[in-house]
Amino acid sequence: PLYQQAKYLKSVPTLNLCPEELKYEVAFAGRSNAGKSSALNVITSQKSLARTSKTPGRTQLINFFTLDEERALVDLPGYGFAKVNVKIKRAWEAGLSEYIEKRPQLKGVVLLMDSRMPPTEIDMTMLEWTKSLELPVHVLLTKSDKLKKGPAKASLLKLRKMLKEEYPHATAQLFSSLKRDGLNEVWLKLDHWFEY
Ligand code: GDP
Repeated sequence: PLYQQAKYLKSVPTLNLCPEELKYEVAFAGRSNAGKSSALNVITSQKSLARTSKTPGRTQLINFFTLDEERALVDLPGYGFAKVNVKIKRAWEAGLSEYIEKRPQLKGVVLLMDSRMPPTEIDMTMLEWTKSLELPVHVLLTKSDKLKKGPAKASLLKLRKMLKEEYPHATAQLFSSLKRDGLNEVWLKLDHWFEY
């Protein structure tokens, strides 16, 4: 129920401009088109919460949505720039790694990955960064409704095996915004990180 209270607070370009009053943050990350906006909307039961962070000019910013006075969901800029030049990519990486590395309020990262695709290079980078920081990650294998039960389960088991071997700070589940499958599991993880 608390997630329905999510309210847009602000968007900032860099760590030093992040709001100071918060105590707990959970960040959402994923390549563009992974289903991050849809997931945020379903998790907060709001139709267009994350559209706020998709408005032109905000896609490259860190977007804050407060749940209460101390807690916020944080929508991180999407990555999906196969064709973007190296300089822009570097700048984006630097900004994001700064937030992730130097934000003590950050309690966990929800990493969205399309269940039909292998992890991207940048998904792996995110797993590496968080591993060295011992920052917990929860992977949502999104759009699970597009796969049949068997293949969906197989892709989850394969990912879990990789995580268990190399990234034990990370957990994973299937998720469908369309069908609302896996919603309780995400809420439980968020409750845990927010100490609700
Ligand atoms: P974002 O770029 O990561 O924020 O991704 P969006 O949430 O905008 O979703 C990208 C595309 O995938 C859109 O066309 C969505 O309608 C579609 N999509 C997102 N989630 C789901 C899902 O759970 N099931 C299906 N079938 N499509 C989805």
